[in-house]
Formats: sequence, C-alpha cells, structure tokens
Amino acid sequence: MNAEFYQNLTTAALAGEPVDRNVAEQVLSDPDIDILDLLHGAYVVRKSFRGNIVTIHIINNGQNGYCPEDCQYCAQAKSSDSAIHEYPLKSDEEFLKEAKAAYEKGAHRYCMVFAGRGPSRSRVERLGALIRKIKENYPLEVCVSAGLLDADKAAVLREAGLDRLNHNLNTSERHYGSICSTHTYADRRQTLAAARQAGLQLCSGVIVGMKEDPQDLIDVAIELSQLKVESIPVNFLMPIPGNRLTDPQGLTPQYALRVLCLYRFINPQAEIRMAAGREMHLRSLQVMGLYAADSLFLDGYLNTKGDDRRRTLEMIRDAGFTIKSEIPLEQILAGPQNITRPDEPESRTKTVLKDAADLRPCIEKRQ
Ligand code: SF4
Repeated sequence: MNAEFYQNLTTAALAGEPVDRNVAEQVLSDPDIDILDLLHGAYVVRKSFRGNIVTIHIINNGQNGYCPEDCQYCAQAKSSDSAIHEYPLKSDEEFLKEAKAAYEKGAHRYCMVFAGRGPSRSRVERLGALIRKIKENYPLEVCVSAGLLDADKAAVLREAGLDRLNHNLNTSERHYGSICSTHTYADRRQTLAAARQAGLQLCSGVIVGMKEDPQDLIDVAIELSQLKVESIPVNFLMPIPGNRLTDPQGLTPQYALRVLCLYRFINPQAEIRMAAGREMHLRSLQVMGLYAADSLFLDGYLNTKGDDRRRTLEMIRDAGFTIKSEIPLEQILAGPQNITRPDEPESRTKTVLKDAADLRPCIEKRQ
C-alpha cells in the first residue's frame, strides 16, 4: 500500500466521510497493509476526536447465569455447560459498595450487566431506584446492559438518570442466526432504537472471532456508524470451556489491530473500547491498540479475569496517555487499591474464570 492509501483513509475519517467497502476489506484482509502506517492513521483520528485520554470501564456482573437465551459465545446461556459461579440478583447495598470501589480505582463509567432476555417492568423500576442512589453518591457515569427493552422501559431508566444503555449487535444481520436462535438481530436493533428514543446514549459493539467473515465485521461497523452509537466495545472471542463457541477463528494480534483501526476509521468520533479478550488476542501488542481505541475494561469481564490492574494502568501511563477520572492516574497507582495480586492468572494464554471473590468482592473475603 502506498502512503496515499493511509492518507486517504485518515482524511476521510477526519472529514466524517464513509469508508468505501473495498477499502474496508483491504484494511482487514490485504497482506500488503503496513500495520504501523494503518495505526498511525487511526491514531491521528483518535487524537483529533478523543485526545490522549483512556476511559476506564468497570463491569459489575449483577446477576450471574440463569439466562434462557442461547447466545453461543456466552457462559451464562442456557446452552452453556460452563463452570461459572452463578448467583441471583445482588442487593442494592452490594451494588453501591462496588460502585464506590470502581470510582476509587479510576473508573469513569460503571457498567451493570444483568443476564436475561429482558427485564420486567418491576425489575426496571427497581433498577431505576438503584441508578438514582449511585448517581446521588458517586460522580460516575452509569451504563446498564439488561437485554431487550422497549421505549417505555428505556424511558424509566433515562428518567432515573441512566446515561447509557449497552446492547451489543455482536455480529452482522447475515451471521446472527449462526450465533443465537432465541432472539434476532432485528430484536437487538429495536432495543437500540428504543433506547435512543428515550434519550439514552448507546453502547453497542461486536465480537470478533465467531466464524464471521470480514464483510460481517464491516457490516456491523457501518450499522453502528449509521446509528451514531457513542460507545463501541470491540470484543475478541474468549473461549470458555462449556460454551458452544470455543474456537476463535483467525484472531492474531495484528488482525485484532486491523479491526480496531477499521472501527476507528468508520466511527471516527466514537469511544472505541478494546474490550473482552484484549489480553489473550492482542497479547504483546496490547498497548498498540490504544492508538486506535480510547477505552478499556479494568478488572476483567463478566466471568473471566483480565490483566492485573496495575499492569493495565501502567500500560496507559507508560504510553503517555492519561485517564478520564477526577483521581490522577499516579495517585491511583500509588494507592492501596492497586496491590498486585501474587496469584494473578496468566490471562494472556488461557481463559481463567472469575471466582466468588472476584465476582462479589464486597461480600466474599479473600483467603
Ligand atoms: S442474552 Fe445476554 S446473558 Fe443471555 S445468553 Fe445472551 S449474551 Fe448471555
């Protein structure tokens, strides 16, 4: 690829112009792509719209397992035989303690996730009351992932102060039937439309490595752009034993970087997150992902551990980025929250499930 190829991509993204599908395919698949040139273009766009800031998200798995849906990538699905630590809905007190801890670790956004097809009206009202309490007590942005929602339920959450609703598209419309049979791509798109109608910001992303082809990843990136989604988690499939999808396809560190760059070019102004699986699939190139993406999860994912907290915060600092928090990064690094655990798993080479103390730190004592 000549310099003009990368320059054109960058210029178009800065001007908010769509990326031609053939060019998008080249970004993902052409062997002549120079990854550093591609990354440089993505970084120019990232810096222009998102600065040199990294936004930290911390996930709270509000209720683990018991999901009647059959998403093949998910350890909480009815079709999964994973060995996750299941539990019913956490108490408000537990959520509040965990929100405080997330704030003190540098989180800008607190993401509460609830397994299931979608919440009842009474569950939505209870969730609204919890959101109010969190917002009254901590200067956190709050995001909720709660399955399928209609506009009325989304309005209750918005009224309570919810900032953003997460509902991932995960893969393209064409490929959706291969990863889930209990709901459709259209159902997911409708939930995003309902959230938007209620005035919520949208968080919606993709999972890479589910036997899709590059066109599917391009379709999702374009759809997210058309929906003007504010936040895009780019997940890389983590193989959890017992799940139906356990074989990430075609995922190399350089391919993961190509995907992050493409998502930046197609969604230049969005918050793009190198999300689940960054440790396993970007491996030694993880820091390079931050030149395209501008956010990440700290402390692992719904059911799987991630890199040690200190390692992640040091990576951000060492690359010259800062974090979006009232608490300075150096202060967080120096604080008691960031003692490196001697038993930290090697999440770069294998999937390690969280235990009860990881999932419910405010009620389970470590040995
Ligand atoms: S609906 Fe959510 S929790 Fe349930 S199986 Fe699908 S991804 Fe997992």
